[in-house]
Amino acid sequence: MEKVSRRTLMMALLAGGGALVGSSRRASAFTADAPSARILAMHENACGATASHKELVAEVDSILGDKYTAAEKRQIVAGLTCPICGCPLAGLF
Ligand SMILES: [Zn+2]
Repeated sequence: MEKVSRRTLMMALLAGGGALVGSSRRASAFTADAPSARILAMHENACGATASHKELVAEVDSILGDKYTAAEKRQIVAGLTCPICGCPLAGLF
């Protein structure tokens, strides 16, 4: 199996997130609410990975740089899931 670098993985995730932003008008029937503190706590208990999720979001933020507004970044992050446990990263930006 070919080893995939973390950066390659993040860029693939961002490509998907960028597509999500591009098609946001078409997909407006599907709105994602920001998860409540209780939902976030349930995810924390399920995978115990909140700290690494915040690191992932910080890495996404640094990769996106200042090419996107905070709202666009928030929308991109809302479409991402943790590649390890599958939990949504929404609400962590
Ligand atoms: Zn995770």
